Amino acid sequence: MARIILLGFKDNDAAEAFIRDMDRIQSLDPVSSSLMGELGVITASAGKVEALVARPTLTCKCSSTGMHQGKKTGAGFTKTAKFGWWVHAKCRRPTSYIVKNFITNMLNGHNDLLPELRESWQPKEENVDPDMATSENDQTPTQAPEETQTSQGETREVQV
Ligand SMILES: [Zn+2]
Repeated sequence: MARIILLGFKDNDAAEAFIRDMDRIQSLDPVSSSLMGELGVITASAGKVEALVARPTLTCKCSSTGMHQGKKTGAGFTKTAKFGWWVHAKCRRPTSYIVKNFITNMLNGHNDLLPELRESWQPKEENVDPDMATSENDQTPTQAPEETQTSQGETREVQV
């Protein structure tokens, strides 16, 4: 099993700085000690541990027939007292669906902003355009960044 720590930040900028530093540190080899220090300062000064959840890693391997019968009758599954997992009563393990979708289920329908945040940190297409300009005419590269900016603006307005 594993653990999920829910870390809260009142300051949005601190939350984003935490994620940015974590991403950088975990992608660097060797690890930057200055980034490690910054991450520690951000976490200790702005972070608050809100919850600790046990995450299952092992799945029920019982025969599909047995699982089907359990679902059909509504029996065969039980909630564990210690971790609150829904598990197959016979083997005491959750289904592979529960294990694979654990984080999504924990979000309880709320949007995960992480993919959009990380995408916003990626180099933009404008960096590619100068190369395009050398091989093509001036109109194509000029139009591409405008379309990109417009679509990003529209996306943000919808989400706000
Ligand atoms: Zn089982």
